[in-house]
Amino acid sequence: MSELVAIDVSHAFSGTRVLESVSLAVDAGQLVCLIGPSGCGKTTLLRVIAGLDRLQRGRVLVEGTLVADAENPRHTPPEKRGIGLMFQDYALFPHLSVFENVVFGVARSSERAAWAREALARMGLEGYADAYPHTLSGGEQQRVALLRALAPAPKVLLLDEPFSDLDVTRRAQVREETLDLLKEMKVTTLMVTHDPEEAMFMADHILVLAGGRIVQAGPPLETYLKPVDAFVAALFGPVNRLEGTVEGARVATPLGSLAADGLPDGIRVQVLIRPEALQLDTAPAGAAGDIELSVDWARLLGRTSLVRLRMRSPATDAEVLLHARVYGTFLPVAGTAVSVRLDPDRAFVFPAADV
Ligand code: ATP
Repeated sequence: MSELVAIDVSHAFSGTRVLESVSLAVDAGQLVCLIGPSGCGKTTLLRVIAGLDRLQRGRVLVEGTLVADAENPRHTPPEKRGIGLMFQDYALFPHLSVFENVVFGVARSSERAAWAREALARMGLEGYADAYPHTLSGGEQQRVALLRALAPAPKVLLLDEPFSDLDVTRRAQVREETLDLLKEMKVTTLMVTHDPEEAMFMADHILVLAGGRIVQAGPPLETYLKPVDAFVAALFGPVNRLEGTVEGARVATPLGSLAADGLPDGIRVQVLIRPEALQLDTAPAGAAGDIELSVDWARLLGRTSLVRLRMRSPATDAEVLLHARVYGTFLPVAGTAVSVRLDPDRAFVFPAADV
């Protein structure tokens, strides 16, 4: 059963539409991530569901109960919706200690106190229980706010960028602990994040929001491997862009021919190729379909190497730069030739107009 449902929600600020007929359902215990560019309406959607902003159009149900209805006006106050909230302005109570902040508003029981102490330790905050918020870093305060939202064991939780203040290493640890906690507690969660990798890691289901509308909804794998348009394909980071024309339900590119399913012959298309779709080898191109390209530069980024390749488009003779992302240390010298093979599962063809 869906524990959180929003139906046909629209919202405007001073006449400017920010949300346009958004519907979503989060099943019991499921974690749904909402991703999209800055300003696309993610926080507004969370605020409307929480009841912090009054619903202008649509309905919201929590655990099957109507908590907001614009047509037959109903507005259950936020604190009566049975929803845990953690927003970006996670103001902690300055006069309360970390421990008191976490258990604030929770029935004082030895069981909840024990939970709070264990949860603080899991978030790397043991030793901070008696500290006051102003002595904590932004990232530490953020984790306290997360635990404060979780302490009453809400059925439904709304999280807005809960890990944004953490450095990259701490972020990975905290989101793993948080995911474990949410799944142990079987909390139904709707979470906003900018970070597609975070969404891929945390989510059972991803909703992509653009211009106030949900443009794609599906499991992480589908969002990454089967983007519905060029916008969603580019959400996971920079992509190589080529152009072509469909012939016989395929499009020819300098890197090989790709299926153009469902697109009519003769139309112009854009081809988006993820950097990780280019598989490189320093050995000369041997297998059919491999081509040789010249290396412009190569940089080690840590876990991966980024290699820029240079070629001339056979169609236009224009110079084309391609970026390849290769796992590990792969640093061919500038000017050398590498063989390139295209993984067609990470390359996408869309009509040229759909930019
Ligand atoms: P970000 O990822 O940057 O946090 P977002 O997707 O959460 O962005 P929102 O905060 O929902 O986006 O804002 C959507 C749009 O509505 C923006 O253009 C923003 O300027 C506008 N907006 C948000 N809150 C208000 C408000 N209270 N009054 C007027 N405009 C607002």
